[in-house]
Amino acid sequence: IIEFSGVHKWYGDFEVLHNINLSVRPGERIVVCGPSGSGKSTMIRCINRLEEHQQGRLIVDGTELKDDVRSIERVRKDVGMVFQQFNLFPHLTVLENLTLAPMWVGKVSKREAEERAMQQLKRVRIAEQAGKYPLQLSGGQQQRVAIARALCLSPKIMLFDEPTSALDPEMIQEVLDVMVELAEMKITMLCVTHEMAFAKAVADRVIFMDRGQIVEQAAPREFFENPKNERTKDFLSKII
Ligand code: ATP
Ligand code: MG
Repeated sequence: IIEFSGVHKWYGDFEVLHNINLSVRPGERIVVCGPSGSGKSTMIRCINRLEEHQQGRLIVDGTELKDDVRSIERVRKDVGMVFQQFNLFPHLTVLENLTLAPMWVGKVSKREAEERAMQQLKRVRIAEQAGKYPLQLSGGQQQRVAIARALCLSPKIMLFDEPTSALDPEMIQEVLDVMVELAEMKITMLCVTHEMAFAKAVADRVIFMDRGQIVEQAAPREFFENPKNERTKDFLSKII
């Protein structure tokens, strides 16, 4: 469903992605880890064209990402994203945050958008907060709203960029619990995270990036018990 072939990207002279080759199957759950600055965010942001690559090919759900607006719009319909900072609209209620895009982009009626929104809020166990504003919620609750908002557009692919790293420790688990449930639904997931227990529990594959390259990838068990690359070993020794 996602295919990187020989993808490179530069910021000026700095090569942030070097020859990325990655093929993701529908329903696959992938955890991406690696040191700060290794290009993890850049790589997953290329998938919904928040960043553009300059060389190689990137195909998402059958559409090659190129400069034309139409291919970008088509891909964005299929891809939901959750960020470290929740990126909710502070002046809208939780419910309004969830219905905005379906009503304006998806052309869904207000009633239907609200119905779907309430379903998703129930899924993330926060339906009773629908009328509140984001800043009246805890960080963990806000992040669950952000996940529900992405789900309202029925994406085929969900991208997560360190969704728990801005949260206080006691709120991390409630967000991970929701993500585990999504993983069980077999929605295609790419998740940048250093929550290794999560990776062990749900990932089909763990990818380790360093200096703009995919250095190693394996099923979690193999990855954690028997890392092959020196840089992977070094990284794991620091975070576990
Ligand atoms: P972290 O774990 O800290 O989030 P990361 O692996 O997600 O790191 P990226 O955010 O993808 O790394 O950044 C990779 C490299 O590209 C870094 O060295 C960063 O400084 C650089 N970089 C990122 N965005 C830009 C930009 N807009 N312009 C120039 N350089 C950038
Ligand atoms: Mg990052």
